[in-house]
Amino acid sequence: MEKILQVKDLHVSFSTYGGEVKAVRGVSFDLHKGETLAIVGESGCGKSVTSQSIMKLIPNPPGKITGGEILFKNQDLIKLKEPAMRKIRGANISMIFQDPMTALNPTLTIGDQIMEGIKQHEHLSNDQAKRVALEMLNLVGIPNPEIRLKQYPHQFSGGMRQRIVIAMALVCRPDVLIADEPTTALDVTIQAQILDLFRDIQKKTGVSIILITHDLGVVAQVADRIAVMYAGRIVEIGSRREIFYNPQHPYTQGLLQSVPRLDMEKAELIPIPGTPPDLFLPPVGCAFAARCPYAMEVCERVYPFQTQLTNQHAVDCWLQDERAKQLVSKI
Ligand code: SF4
Repeated sequence: MEKILQVKDLHVSFSTYGGEVKAVRGVSFDLHKGETLAIVGESGCGKSVTSQSIMKLIPNPPGKITGGEILFKNQDLIKLKEPAMRKIRGANISMIFQDPMTALNPTLTIGDQIMEGIKQHEHLSNDQAKRVALEMLNLVGIPNPEIRLKQYPHQFSGGMRQRIVIAMALVCRPDVLIADEPTTALDVTIQAQILDLFRDIQKKTGVSIILITHDLGVVAQVADRIAVMYAGRIVEIGSRREIFYNPQHPYTQGLLQSVPRLDMEKAELIPIPGTPPDLFLPPVGCAFAARCPYAMEVCERVYPFQTQLTNQHAVDCWLQDERAKQLVSKI
C-alpha cells in the first residue's frame, strides 16, 4: 500500500523551569493512503505532541523537535520553512481538535469561515467558493446547507459544530486528516454519528486519517491499524484485529482490560495500577517496568528491541525477544 506519510525516529522535547521534558522519544510509523491509523494512550503519553509535530504546531519555545524526519511527498516537513509549511497546512494536511468551539470564530457565519479556508489556498471566485462550501456541508451531513451557511456557530449543536469543523478541514481535499480526540467533548450518541461520518468521508474522498484518542471504544469502530503509545514511544502497533484480539505488550493488555467491551460483557474492568513515569528523567529501560506484572531485571536496565510479529504487528517488549535471556546472564 502506498505510504502517504512517514514519521521516522521523531524526538520532541519541552524546556521547562524544572528541566527538559522528553515528550516524544523516537516515534516511527507509516501512514498508508486511505487508511485510518489510531494513536492510543493515556494522557501525557506524547500522542498529541506527535500529531502537532506533523503539522509543525509545537510552540517553540518551549517545545522543539530535536530529531527525526517527517516525510510527506518526498520532503521532510521538519526542514520546511514556515511559509512553505503554511501552504501544506489545510491544503495537504488538515487537523481538527477536541473542542469545535475553539476552531470556530463566533463572530463570523459558518459560510464565511468555510469560504475563507478555500480562498486561502485556492484562487476561486465568491460564487465558486460558495459552491464548494455547500458541497462540503452536504458531505458532512448538515441539512438545509443554503440556510445554514448564513448562520453563526452558536446556532448549531455540539455535534453539528464538529461536522462544520470537519467540513472546514476537508474543504481543500487534503491527503491527510489528523483528528485529535474529535469525539471526546460529545455525548455517546453524537460520538457514534461523528465516527460514522469519518468512515463515510474516507470512503468518498480516500483521505488518510490519523485518529488520536485515549478511548479504545472509538478506535474499535474506525481504525484500520492501531499504534499504542506509552511514555513518548510507540510500544505496540498492529492491525485493529491484532491489537484487540492478540495484544502482546502488557500495557496494551492493561488498556484493554480497563475499558468495557461488548464481547466481555461479564468480565470485571481492571485499571492499570500506578502512573506513567516522569519524562524529565525517563527510565533507561522499559518505561512500563514499574507497572508491569511481568517485569524482569533486564526490563529496567535495557530498552527492549522492537520484535516484528507479523508484517503489520510489532511490539517493544522483552517477553517477545529471545535475546532477553542472554542479556540477563550478562547483567
Ligand atoms: Fe513488562 Fe519488561 Fe515487557 Fe516492559 S519489557 S512491558 S517491563 S515485560
